[in-house]
Order: sequence, then structure tokens, then C-alpha cells
Amino acid sequence: MPADRLRRPPAGPLDRLLAALRPSALMLVARELTKEYRSGDAILRALDSVSFVIPQGAYVAIVGASGSGKTTLLGLLAGLDTPTRGSVLLDGVDLASLTEDARARVRGEKVGFVFQSFQLIPTLTALENVAVPLELRGESEALPRARDVLARVGLAGRAAHFPAQLSGGEQQRVAIARAFANHPRVLFADEPTGNLDAGTGGRVVDLLEALNRESGSTIVLVTHDAALAERASRVLRLADGRVIADTHTERAADRLAGISG
Ligand code: ADP
Ligand code: MG
Repeated sequence: MPADRLRRPPAGPLDRLLAALRPSALMLVARELTKEYRSGDAILRALDSVSFVIPQGAYVAIVGASGSGKTTLLGLLAGLDTPTRGSVLLDGVDLASLTEDARARVRGEKVGFVFQSFQLIPTLTALENVAVPLELRGESEALPRARDVLARVGLAGRAAHFPAQLSGGEQQRVAIARAFANHPRVLFADEPTGNLDAGTGGRVVDLLEALNRESGSTIVLVTHDAALAERASRVLRLADGRVIADTHTERAADRLAGISG
């Protein structure tokens, strides 16, 4: 046995799981993720040593009370923010090893993000909003491609509308089209239905699920809505910055039955 094997600490359950899985099958690995915010002398631990693995193509809901760390966790997983301790592997890339610019490039290539407040650019039309990430990548066919994606979310007839001329549900569909325009490997959505009525919110989640099935993108959805969370194949529950439950839903069993049968 090589000497370095002897010096290494014994592998924990997460290490054994990682070793057992093909690296390419893992979309996200969180290892002992901790995020602390300092205010004056006080330190607030928003996330406390959180570890989990999300396989490629999974559909995961993150739930928990307000202040439990959901948005903080999403920001770290997406590389929008850096942890105090611990690491994130996104599609095999250790985000902590990258410069801020390199992280931004990884986000542009692999990540889509949908926010509760839509965050469309008010001075651009729906079509132009969807085209922004494509243009940032230097795609020559940005507008035709954006038109296709906008049609995919049912808004071909709203291409020339500005955000203020669209309903909340329509604005969120534009935001989803923008997030999917780059064919992201993983899509993060932070309470995307929080500003919508139940029916409209349900249709927004229908759309996320359809895109998850068709494109194979991994989906990580933060929601307050227990009914929406139940539609995911797995539910991670946070409390005080820790994962207190990690549940595979019946839907996950249905999917596995569908795959094997
Ligand atoms: P959730 O999304 O579950 O409501 P957050 O991740 O937004 O929770 O927040 C978790 C905790 O971290 C909260 O106590 C919040 O006040 C605190 N927090 C979040 N962002 C910051 C920040 N930028 N500075 C200081 N404290 C923060
Ligand atoms: Mg939040």
C-alpha cells in the first residue's frame, strides 16, 4: 500500500459514495459547506457544514423556514458566492479553485438561475431579455435562438413586449426562457412561484419540469410550497443552516420503476 494511503484519514460515507459513482454522474457535490456572516462582533452561521450529492438530471426541492439558509445554499452551489469553509463541485469543477472571472464563465456555460422577483431588464423586450446570455457568449444566432426558446415557454406572441407589459406569470416564463437559453446543465430556482398565485405558480413549475425531462438539466428548486416540493424526486429540508431531512419522494420511486420496467 502506498505511504500516502496510510496517512489519509479513513474514508467517510460521503467519500465511499463519491468513489462508487462515476464522476460524470454527479452534477453537484457539497462538502461540509459553511457560510458565516459577520456583523460587528457577532458571527451568524447561515450554513453549518452541509454535505450532499446531487446526480445529473435530478429534480431536487429545498425547503425550510425563512432564514434557514436556502438562498445562501443556492448562491454557493451556483458559484454566485463563496463559502467560509467547505467546497462545491459543479459538474466536476471545484468552484473554490477558480478565480472570480473563471467562476463567472462556468456559470455562463453551465448554470441557469430563476429568482422570485423575475429580475428581467425593464428596458429590454421579452425577446431581448432571453437573448442576453446568448449574446454574452458571443452566439451569432442569439435572436433566432431566443425566439425559439420564447416560443417553447408559450410566449411567441409576446416577444416585443417589455416586462411591465407582461403579467407576473408571463415575466417568470420569460425568466425561465432566459435561464434555459444556454442549455444549462443545472437550473437553480429560488422561490420562483413566490410572487405568483397558486394556479400560475403551478404552471411555472410544470414548465420547469417539462424542461427538466426534455433537456436532462438538473433542477434545484427552493420553495415554501409543500405541494410543489412533493413534485420533486427528492426533498432536502433545512433548519438553522443544517440539512435535517433528505427524503426521496414516491415520485422518485415511480421514475425508477419507469427506468427499470
Ligand atoms: P432563506 O433563503 O432560507 O430565507 P437565507 O439564506 O437568505 O435564508 O439566510 C440565512 C441566514 O443568513 C438568515 O439569518 C439571514 O439573515 C442571514 N443572511 C443572509 N444573507 C446575509 C448577508 N449578506 N449578510 C448577513 N446575513 C445574511
Ligand atoms: Mg431565501
